[in-house]
Parts: sequence; structure tokens; C-alpha cells
Amino acid sequence: MSNKVVIIGGGPAGISAALYTTRADMDTLILAHGESALNKAESIDNYYGFPNGISGPELYEAGIKQAKDLGAEVRYEEVVGLNYGIDKLEVKTTENLYYADVVILAMGSQRKAPKIEGIKEFEGNGVSYCAVCDGYFYRGKTVAVLGNGDYAANERAELEPLASEVIALEDIESIERFSGDIKLNKVEFKDGSTKEIDGLFVAVGTAGAGDLAKKIGVITDETNKIVVDEEMATNVPGIYAAGDCIGGFLQVAKAVSDGAIAAKSAIKYLRTK
Ligand SMILES: Cc1cc2nc3c(=O)[nH]c(=O)nc-3n(C[C@H](O)[C@H](O)[C@H](O)COP(=O)(O)OP(=O)(O)OC[C@H]3O[C@@H](n4cnc5c(N)ncnc54)[C@H](O)[C@@H]3O)c2cc1C
Repeated sequence: MSNKVVIIGGGPAGISAALYTTRADMDTLILAHGESALNKAESIDNYYGFPNGISGPELYEAGIKQAKDLGAEVRYEEVVGLNYGIDKLEVKTTENLYYADVVILAMGSQRKAPKIEGIKEFEGNGVSYCAVCDGYFYRGKTVAVLGNGDYAANERAELEPLASEVIALEDIESIERFSGDIKLNKVEFKDGSTKEIDGLFVAVGTAGAGDLAKKIGVITDETNKIVVDEEMATNVPGIYAAGDCIGGFLQVAKAVSDGAIAAKSAIKYLRTK
């Protein structure tokens, strides 16, 4: 085996990519955590080869098994960081740090921010989704991180060396609203208390594809979808993206096609590197 390919996401896009990279004899690791859209689909009735439909979870498990049988390694770990190493890309999960020559982002649709008044309104004016990208702007200031999982803990750890105070807002239900004038400057709790803050970092649930992409300088559009060219290549060499996380037609057929193209491009990149 030669180069290391890390695929983030075990849905149709990620698995399709893995089928090609493993068959090209590349050491392929699939990291999957949380639900695929397939887990929510009762029946997929419009996919090639299944005239009577197939349940979404069944199709998901079949894909994982197919990739494993071909030699891909599957680990159920949550990816919380993506960075440049000395001569490799670094993929950080809650448990491990992996080194990759190529990363394929196949993490599905962007999760939604919680519907708390002020989050949407102050985006870009005190509300951020990426500690690595925006933490620098809050040097010596008070910031809050919204979320109670490993991803939120990771974001707090990124901010601690920079900010004067990092407040953990773990109980989302306790928050009434975020307020301010032009810029966000306060969190108001349901019990009537308030806390002055200079910035809010939203890290609820697991890191979405757009959040991770931005950490390493991959361009996303205004809806946080990853921007790719026709080869599924992002603007960062060695990083490809496929499936629902790049937007367009959100269907299994398109995710499978994207994954295959991303893998083909990644294989070519590695062989000519
Ligand atoms: C209710 C419903 C019904 C649908 N019905 C149909 C249908 O009939 N026909 C059809 O063609 N399509 C249907 N779809 C759409 C289809 O399921 C998606 O288009 C398809 O699953 C997208 O594949 P994907 O690989 O891009 O993303 P997903 O299948 O969503 O997979 C994303 C993967 O990324 C992983 N992941 C995410 N974040 C992280 C992280 N931080 N760390 C590690 N892993 C992570 C997840 O665990 C998952 O393995 C339906 C979707 C829904 C919600």
C-alpha cells in the first residue's frame, strides 16, 4: 500500500470514493461519526438496481461492508479538526490524530445552527463557526462557545490561548437570546441573568463539512457548501469534496458520482505528485 487517503464520511459519497481508492491500492481510512442522511430515509426508491427500493439504513450498512470487504478501514470517530502538518495533512478526531496525503470530505449536509434569537442576525458581527479561522480577532477578549460535545470542547481549547476568558455555554435550553447593537455583545439567559461577551462561537453537535473545510482554508459558499471544480478538487491541494456537502442535487446517485470523481482525481494527484 502506498499513500494514505482519509475519507471523512461513510455515506454514499465517502464509500463510493473508498471503493476506487482501495482498488487503486491506496491505504484508505474512512472516519464516520453521527448519522448519514440515509439513516433518515425510510426507503430509497429511485436508485439504480433496486426496483423495489431499499431502506436507507440498509443501504448505508451495505456500503460500509462493501468498503471494508475491499480493504478500507472504517473507524467511528468524530472529526473535529483539519490542519497542515509538516508534509502531510492532519485529521484530528476526538480520539486520534491521523496523517494523510489526501483528504476527501464527504460529510453530508451542513447541520443547522440552533434557532436562538441573535445567532443568524449577528453572523459575521460577533458570531463565528470556526475558532481556528476567527479566534485571532478575539485576542484578549471574552468569548463564549455554544455546544456541549467534543467539537465544542475542541473549539474552546483553540480559543483558550487567545481569549482572556472562554465561557462554555453548554445548556442551550437556558439561553433566551444573544443581543447587541451592530455587534453581538451579550448573552441573555431565561432566568433573567446576562453576561457580556465579545464573541460567540457556535459548535453545536458535530463539526459540519463547511466548518472543517474553513479550518484549512478551503473556500465555502454563502450557504457553507464546499466549493469544488469539476474534478471535485477544492482550492487546497490534496483536499477533495463530494456529495451533499458540495450542494446541488441532494440524492444518492449524485453523491455516488461525486465520490467516484473525487477518488479518480485524488488517485491522479497522488500518482503525479
Ligand atoms: C428523509 C430523507 C429521505 C431521502 N430519500 C432519498 C431518496 O429516496 N433517494 C435519494 O437518492 N436520496 C434520498 N435522500 C438523500 C440522500 O440520503 C443523500 O443525498 C445522501 O445520503 C448524501 O450522501 P453523502 O455521502 O453526501 O452524505 P451522508 O449520507 O449524509 O453521509 C455523511 C457521512 O458523514 C459522516 N460525518 C458527518 N460529520 C462527521 C464528522 N464530524 N466526523 C466524522 N464523520 C462525520 C456521517 O456519519 C455520515 O457517515 C434522502 C434524504 C433524507 C434526509
